[in-house]
Amino acid sequence: MKVLKFGGTSVGSIENMNNVKSIINDGDKKIVVLSAMSGTTNALVSIASKIETESIKEAIEEVESLHKKYVIVVNELLTDEDLKAQVATYVSERFNFLLECASKVFSIEVENEILAQGELLSTFMFNAFLQQEGVNSQLLAALDFMKIDAVKEPDVDYTKEHLNKALEVTPEAEIYITQGFICLDDNGAISNLQRGGSDYTATIVGAVIQAEEVQIWTDIDGMHNNDPRFVEGTQPISNLSFDEAAELAYFGAKILHPQTVLPVRADGIPVRLKNTMNPPASGTLISSNHVENGIKAIAAKDNITAIKIKSGRMLQAHGFLRKVFEIFEVYETPIDMITTSEVAVSLTIDDDKNLDKIVEELQTIATIEVDRKQSIVCLVGHSIVNHEETFKLFQILKDVKIRMISYGGSRNNISLLIDTQNKIETLQKLNEYLFELVTL
Ligand code: ASP
Repeated sequence: MKVLKFGGTSVGSIENMNNVKSIINDGDKKIVVLSAMSGTTNALVSIASKIETESIKEAIEEVESLHKKYVIVVNELLTDEDLKAQVATYVSERFNFLLECASKVFSIEVENEILAQGELLSTFMFNAFLQQEGVNSQLLAALDFMKIDAVKEPDVDYTKEHLNKALEVTPEAEIYITQGFICLDDNGAISNLQRGGSDYTATIVGAVIQAEEVQIWTDIDGMHNNDPRFVEGTQPISNLSFDEAAELAYFGAKILHPQTVLPVRADGIPVRLKNTMNPPASGTLISSNHVENGIKAIAAKDNITAIKIKSGRMLQAHGFLRKVFEIFEVYETPIDMITTSEVAVSLTIDDDKNLDKIVEELQTIATIEVDRKQSIVCLVGHSIVNHEETFKLFQILKDVKIRMISYGGSRNNISLLIDTQNKIETLQKLNEYLFELVTL
């Protein structure tokens, strides 16, 4: 069995839902994971934040305006009167629930319940649409089997047991539709796998059922070799290894949730990235194979903070780095890049929630400099650190100021830290030097 995940734009219009129907209705049995319709999760985030700031009137207005959009979609999507009435009732129930949330005291639990409504709506509507079109489909409730544990990692054993049960009790169907993103937490409350988490749902489900393949359908022809928002002439990459894909997803290639490949990597279950708007395009195949060496792709991640920790006490001393790392550990702040010299260490963090406290503690052992608005530009490819073409990367040094460089941490990644204001120029120059594409 295959698992196919469709993102927000794939279920964001009636035309696209029709495309999805033709893609999935090929006679093969499958599980289809859906995101919320595009824009919905952002709207729900905004509603939750209005409740948090006690702007209740605005929260109610936003709920009502989102409800209106859904009423229009239901009316256009469904022509079968019975199904239309069923879906309209369900949609009203979900929106009444959102209105009730507006009068609750804000908490993370309330926010998570609000955020879960998008996937509940999209799957219910889409399943009714499939039934109207004569497709043999059934809904599987993700909240019956998707669960995370106390450290927010997927509870694979629970998911396996409960998904198998759900499949047993659900009437036999060709296509099972389920919600991406949402899950239960360790206490059985509604939670989620973080923004963009439907991809992760798909690979967790894929691993649990030992799928033949997981397909992630978006609105672009696979993972590109540079960021198409800033660079012209980027190309889809036909093959990536799990390692390469994981690095790219983490370092900013927006097409995949960073943890997507983790659940399927150990079993070598391939992940194929496809385009709902252009199904014949071959997309990107992520698998255990390293097809070729050399630089394959470039991605950039913004909102990085660099911290320089300088201390005479580092000179020929041991234990200094341990003290530094302990401070980051206390504040549960992951470090991304790190470079050291004999008297200083520079590192970067993505999550700056506890930056002030971290800096305060670091100042007790060293002199600290903080640079915000930095970007990590990451180059990925199998064995790039040894590849004969990699020297071309350093041509960039004559054009752009580089704050840090990380080379050799893994064979498949070279990372540069630059000021965000130089990001577009850096991506374009790298395209020119490495892929010989002049884009300016
Ligand atoms: N709907 C959620 C989001 O917008 C999850 C997803 O689409 O993957 O982040």
